[in-house]
Amino acid sequence: MGLRPRDLTSQREGRRRLIERLREAGIHDLAVLHAFDRVPRHRFVPDVFGPRAYADEALPLGHGQTISRPTTHALYLESLKLTGEERVLEVGTGSGFQTALLATLCRQVFSIERVPALAASARARIEALGFSNVAIRAGDGSYGWRKYAPFDAILVSAGTREVPRPLIEQLSVGGQILIPLGDAESQELHRIVRTGEASLEDEVIATVQFVALRGADGVEVQSERVTPC
Ligand code: SAH
Repeated sequence: MGLRPRDLTSQREGRRRLIERLREAGIHDLAVLHAFDRVPRHRFVPDVFGPRAYADEALPLGHGQTISRPTTHALYLESLKLTGEERVLEVGTGSGFQTALLATLCRQVFSIERVPALAASARARIEALGFSNVAIRAGDGSYGWRKYAPFDAILVSAGTREVPRPLIEQLSVGGQILIPLGDAESQELHRIVRTGEASLEDEVIATVQFVALRGADGVEVQSERVTPC
């Protein structure tokens, strides 16, 4: 469906205000702000929420899931300090909005979504926008994506109690995982850096609230996971 000139103006204006809002929230990395300018969030929310696409709020995606608040995505992306050369794994594609932001900020993005219908619509949106450095698949991301490992960064967009072991195994030395750890009510966003073959550094960045990380069976992911062959 074609966009009327009035829609285009309001989307441009919405994006400008959103970037102002991100600056006020303490986001100063120009590459991150530029990514928000390049990726049209209204293409990643259900049509009915189009008029709210550039507000700083989480919105329902269907299937009981939500697209996160822009300030949460910006916090993730600013803390990663990407140089543009990284291979990144994202667990929890959801709408694909953060996937698209990442695609503008690093070399390759591999993203896994548990709900097949969400994975399919995120893939269609990303392809329609012309990104060629993104692979999305449906599945349980707590096992990682061994075929493309190691990753320089792993972003987990759903909360869990412990870091799934395959994700640590699939991290390159010097690489980092951003993951919300805690219970259903609230989690702390941790940055875990693999400082050596067998050494990790763990730092808490913020308090956040995410939907739960669930296995293919829909059950919450608990403690360690053993990678299937
Ligand atoms: N960044 C996304 C966040 C979506 S919410 C966005 O803003 O659109 C988190 C997503 O994680 C949901 O779509 C949920 O289905 C997915 N998810 C939960 N557990 C998962 C798992 N084990 N593997 C892959 N995706 C998972």
